[in-house]
Amino acid sequence: MGRMKKKPDTGHCSKLLERMSKYLDGELKGDCCGELERHLEECPECRSTLDGMRSLARLCRECRDQELRQSPEFEAQLMRMLFRE
Ligand SMILES: [Zn+2]
Repeated sequence: MGRMKKKPDTGHCSKLLERMSKYLDGELKGDCCGELERHLEECPECRSTLDGMRSLARLCRECRDQELRQSPEFEAQLMRMLFRE
């Protein structure tokens, strides 16, 4: 976090970031999907972002079922996930 590292294509990354949530929802189709997947193969940063989003989405689904929202444990887990210590 906070490291200024040279990335392959930063503009591309932020553009694809918007697509990732759709990708996770299975709403991304055809060319967009393929482009994202190709980019994920060569961009570890986007892969880890997608990974985080995927865990987060799973966590949200689980807490909808289990009412974990109010639990401090859930919050701690969320923070760990977002700020990867
Ligand atoms: Zn990327």
